[in-house]
Amino acid sequence: MNSSETTIDIIVIGGGPVGTTAAALLSEKGYSVCLLEKAKHPRFHIGESLLPMNLPILERLGVLDQIKAIGIIKHGAEFNAIDPVSQEWKRQTFYFEKSFNKKYPHAYEVKRSEFDHILLENCKNKGVRVLENNQVTQVDFISPGQVVVHHNNENNEPTILYGRYIIDASGRDSLLSRRLKLKQKNPHHQSSAIFGHFSDVQRRTGKDEGNISIYWFEHGWFWLIPLNDGSMSVGAVCWPEYLKTLEGSTEAFLWKTIAMNSAVASRMKKAKKLGEIRATGNFAYTSKKMWGRDFMLLGDAFAFVDPVFSSGVYLGMSGAEQAAEIIDQCFKTPERTAQLCTQLEKRIRSGINEMCWFIYRFTSPAIQRLFMNPKNDYQVESALISMLAGDIFDNKAVKIRLKLFHFIYYTHVMRMLPGTIKSWLKRRKNVQVIFKKGTMPEDRVDESL
Ligand SMILES: Cc1cc2nc3c(=O)[nH]c(=O)nc-3n(C[C@H](O)[C@H](O)[C@H](O)COP(=O)(O)OP(=O)(O)OC[C@H]3O[C@@H](n4cnc5c(N)ncnc54)[C@H](O)[C@@H]3O)c2cc1C
Repeated sequence: MNSSETTIDIIVIGGGPVGTTAAALLSEKGYSVCLLEKAKHPRFHIGESLLPMNLPILERLGVLDQIKAIGIIKHGAEFNAIDPVSQEWKRQTFYFEKSFNKKYPHAYEVKRSEFDHILLENCKNKGVRVLENNQVTQVDFISPGQVVVHHNNENNEPTILYGRYIIDASGRDSLLSRRLKLKQKNPHHQSSAIFGHFSDVQRRTGKDEGNISIYWFEHGWFWLIPLNDGSMSVGAVCWPEYLKTLEGSTEAFLWKTIAMNSAVASRMKKAKKLGEIRATGNFAYTSKKMWGRDFMLLGDAFAFVDPVFSSGVYLGMSGAEQAAEIIDQCFKTPERTAQLCTQLEKRIRSGINEMCWFIYRFTSPAIQRLFMNPKNDYQVESALISMLAGDIFDNKAVKIRLKLFHFIYYTHVMRMLPGTIKSWLKRRKNVQVIFKKGTMPEDRVDESL
């Protein structure tokens, strides 16, 4: 077993957007930081659509210009549904320039292989020791401030590192959350996705070229995310019940699903697949707690719900940025650790919950009607766009108006009761307890189909 006698201040597991954000910011504060990444960047990752509120974080990390260079400008988010009266497809675009925060009127769509690579290189430039092709296998908490991290190095040899503090940013692998039996399936939501990159997909033009397109359909919804090189990320997020009917190849299943949505099928008439078609199942989960003695869980390693509002990268990076401040304070004033970390956890959970309210209702007829027929009375539409931009933490004007939106939603539910009950029953069937209540068995957490 290889080992190094030096004790590192902070060991970060995972070199995605979250691990690299936390590592870079803590290294800037003067801590010795080592980041272990099981893959070698650049590597494929799903999740290409960023939110405007990502931009200040990228600015602080000093990588905004590099991201601009690889990205395509996303001015807004477009929603598509069949109009119940005309039975024609209807399109509604929410432009970020109409949100409350006028400072960030757009975001970017990025290839995650490039985006994550830039963030990882940035870590190295900021003094983080980055070990790629190094998979963490186990973490032992020996005594306060003494952690041992077991990993397989680039030659696949078992190796150990000594640290004072661990950040788990291992994404949906959620290494620590599983090991500590903190990971739980989300009792309110379950969905699965099937996706790939394609060439020759019809793009929007002009200002709309970089917008994400979302389409409702009977088994869930589709995304189309245009990328800088002319390709398109296309995916369907479906009820697990539907994905269970998968027969034959994953690719054939995706094409079959695309054929169910005439608008998506029409844009993909000439599409050709680029690379692998992938699927991921049952990805809505949370962890019972976010921190403990000498560790913190961040980003997807802590919780993930659903990608419909493209909030995963932003929520994770924002959490990592806030965590870097808190961990610094905890090192300086250890007696305040419990108070500081509890406040942070509460704040991060409040951001996720704000998104969850919309996620849980996204397939209901009332939300579809409200999204497709927005009204800006009392600036409710601006607040909705602010939510879509990721402005969900500190803006009181947004928060109050989102509450008003909730109220309007419930009045629509009353008016559309039969449709709402039908969609609620469908949801309920899909989130039925597949697993026994409590901690999820490891092998079922993120099953690839
Ligand atoms: C279908 C789908 C579509 C999505 N679309 C979007 C979108 O459009 N916009 C958006 O913002 N979000 C989207 N998301 C969510 C987004 O992908 C994640 O929220 C985001 O990648 C989380 O970042 P992270 O750094 O926490 O984890 P990750 O990006 O997953 O990074 C974790 C890293 O840890 C490494 N790792 C794992 N285990 C170990 C180990 N044992 N040792 C060492 N390294 C390890 C992995 O190799 C990986 O590089 C989507 C998610 C899904 C499932």
